[in-house]
Amino acid sequence: MKPQRLLPDLFLFKDLCNVFVIRDGSEAIAIDFGSGRWRKYLPQLGIKNLRHVFLTHHHADQLIGLSGRRWPFAIHASAGERTFLDPAMLRTILSKPSGAVCPPSYAPPAKGIPRILFDMAPFGDFFWNRHRFRFVSTPGHSRSALTILANLGDQQVAFCGDAVFGNGKIWEPHHLEWHHLYPDGVEAARNGILRLADLGNDLLCPSHGPILRTRPEKILRRLAKNLAALIRARGSVCPGEPDRLVPETAAGEGARQLLPHLYRFGVNGYLLLSKSGEALAVDTQEKEMPVLRSLLARLHIPKVSCAVSTHHHLDHADGLPALRKQGARIVLHPWVAQWLRQTGTSRHPWFEVLIPRRPILADQLWPTQGTWRWNEYQFQIAPFPGQTWWHCAFQTVVDGRKVLFSGDNFQPPSRWSGQGGFCAWNSSRLVTGYGRSAALVLRWRPEILACGHGTSFYFSNRHFRKVVAWAKKAERALLNLSPHGNLEQDYFLPAKRAWKSILHSPHLK
Ligand SMILES: [Zn+2]
Ligand SMILES: [Zn+2]
Repeated sequence: MKPQRLLPDLFLFKDLCNVFVIRDGSEAIAIDFGSGRWRKYLPQLGIKNLRHVFLTHHHADQLIGLSGRRWPFAIHASAGERTFLDPAMLRTILSKPSGAVCPPSYAPPAKGIPRILFDMAPFGDFFWNRHRFRFVSTPGHSRSALTILANLGDQQVAFCGDAVFGNGKIWEPHHLEWHHLYPDGVEAARNGILRLADLGNDLLCPSHGPILRTRPEKILRRLAKNLAALIRARGSVCPGEPDRLVPETAAGEGARQLLPHLYRFGVNGYLLLSKSGEALAVDTQEKEMPVLRSLLARLHIPKVSCAVSTHHHLDHADGLPALRKQGARIVLHPWVAQWLRQTGTSRHPWFEVLIPRRPILADQLWPTQGTWRWNEYQFQIAPFPGQTWWHCAFQTVVDGRKVLFSGDNFQPPSRWSGQGGFCAWNSSRLVTGYGRSAALVLRWRPEILACGHGTSFYFSNRHFRKVVAWAKKAERALLNLSPHGNLEQDYFLPAKRAWKSILHSPHLK
């Protein structure tokens, strides 16, 4: 980790992140800290006193070496990063489960860092000896990330943190996923990059990857274009298509009828009736059991005899134990069963501490791909990855119409751009997920898609051909941001590491 000299008084250490040291006589300041092991080289550079450490953002790799000690230098960070750096505030935020959205930070330091001065204001200054540093807002990797600008000799240098990776990509791009449905993180990142591109910098010093010395402006503009493509990918999956909603009639409190033998209830539930007098429940939530009970009473059906789920998210599956208690048999797809049988040692986004953790076991497993019979209904079964990988679909004929139970992958165009969200946090795959599942819909040609979250719509060939094309485009947009051109390595793996550290945090009760 020997120092590399970038300018007469500017040095780079390749630590957990790039750490930059600016020297002034026998004093110095550092930008970001990493492990801190680089400090042992300072005497070789004639530096006796490190005066200040400035943090571009709060991620653990930028600063983890600062924890657990009192330091002889001042540590500065943006006021907006206090939530993830101040030990007490961090404990508060980590003790809440992330629930149904992406976490507020994917890489907070485990215990926070005490005694930080939160005095770096966006577009503010800091004076040190003959230097004046300016702070420019470049959010994205974190909501309040700052770029630090310095004039060193005749060079304007921008220390931009993770706003850009050295080759004009984004280091661990899942950090831009603030929400699984909306592109707000990507939009913020693009605005910051355009701001940076306008500044006429000579040297761009990112936290990861090589230093940009030649025409950083050009690289930043290309990055802004790639970010814009990802923002567009967050738009409609089937532009120009109408909703084609299935008319439903009211069937008591919280329930509606789609077909003579098919009802929808609560947020995600469907109830399929058999001529035998039995009922099959799809995607039941525990808190909606009263809605289901009153629907059963209205239909004079004593109980649900079989219960199934499209995927493992608890808003589609946590009612299964209650249904079993009342006599239902639980039948699951192997991919879905795999998660539902886990205990508290293996938490997963959208499947975490929302209920006391206990395994949900299947009485019978479906084939991964094949058919299954329940009374007069013959079902086709298949994996159906999209919003999450561990998702299945099943189709049968109800009252003469082919109905596909499609869970959270697809929505009518006016709802959430026509899909159920995508993010690395939720293991959403694009070409091998949404694209593959849209292709299955095209092969199975249902008449009705019975979706989660209160919607059903009629199938159209053109709609799903557009979805297949969208998945390719969206994946290309992500790939164009990936530093190594490899989404497994750059995007999914770091997000998986983040689940492990955040969801197993000792603060999470
Ligand atoms: Zn970062
Ligand atoms: Zn879901």
